[in-house]
Amino acid sequence: MRNKMLALILACSASQAIAGFDVVALGVRGGVEEGNLTSYLIRSDDQKLYLGLDAGSVLPGISKALGKGAFPQVTAENAAPYTPQGAVFRNLIGGYFISHGHLDHLAGLIISSPEDSHKPIYGTADTIGTLRQHYFNGKVWPNFTDAGSGLRIGTYRLNAPRPAQRFSIGLTGLDGVIYPLSHGGTPSSMILVSRNNESFAFFGDTGPDQVEKSKNLETVWRVLGDEAKAKRLKGIIIETSYPDGVPDSKLFGHLTPEWLLKELKVFETASGGAGSLKGVTVIISHVKPSLKAGADPEAEIMQQLEKGNDLGVKFVRMQQGDALSL
Ligand SMILES: [Zn+2]
Ligand SMILES: [Zn+2]
Repeated sequence: MRNKMLALILACSASQAIAGFDVVALGVRGGVEEGNLTSYLIRSDDQKLYLGLDAGSVLPGISKALGKGAFPQVTAENAAPYTPQGAVFRNLIGGYFISHGHLDHLAGLIISSPEDSHKPIYGTADTIGTLRQHYFNGKVWPNFTDAGSGLRIGTYRLNAPRPAQRFSIGLTGLDGVIYPLSHGGTPSSMILVSRNNESFAFFGDTGPDQVEKSKNLETVWRVLGDEAKAKRLKGIIIETSYPDGVPDSKLFGHLTPEWLLKELKVFETASGGAGSLKGVTVIISHVKPSLKAGADPEAEIMQQLEKGNDLGVKFVRMQQGDALSL
């Protein structure tokens, strides 16, 4: 008995020491085909609830992830009266962060809203305004929020925390800070989540500063540079929409491998110079599928990133339903 207790205590303190984040990919593409659009879940591994990071495809992603064993804590028995898919959706997602108002980042949220439980949605004032005026407006869809026009059903509590200011994310135990990004004329954003002196960054769609004529990424790299220096940063999710060769004039606020590598160089400098990003996980998101026979943009993008990877970062491409512990 005593040994068992001791083992338990040791196990607890060990898990605290290696605490980190659980990430599940619900959707990993940047458009064209519905069913696998940008959406990830993240939670602190000492907490129950996940935060949704965008919500392009939600329920199809949960199905896929259940099939891959990403939610071992959910069984048909303990999900009742819901299906396991319903239980993850309603009881394990504690809120959503929406990076910007484009459909490929929130279509799943809209379509599944009639079956959702009460939860908060976070975004910039621009994103929250878009959700209120153009989606949950009683015209294209009933108003499932607590604000705006028409009958307010009130499933979602809309929150627009000020940029660069820390807030606590509902019952997820995570703190968040939102920073603006430039996305070809559409305001987009990044969220830095943190807990237990560890942090993780999720980027909405973004173009390179040079093309966007912006300093938004420069600002974000400075913030993340401090996180990396303090050895807090566990990883980032960032887009690479197209393989190399797409001219800047046709990027429409997105990144290619060449541009991401250039931006990561700025990040490396802000983190203390050469070698300072070694081992940092960079999850590549929002790849745009091609309908051309024989084209494989995903493989191309990952090859191009690896080829230019003199930073020593760990480029990861999660597939829909994959889970990763960081
Ligand atoms: Zn997008
Ligand atoms: Zn977009």
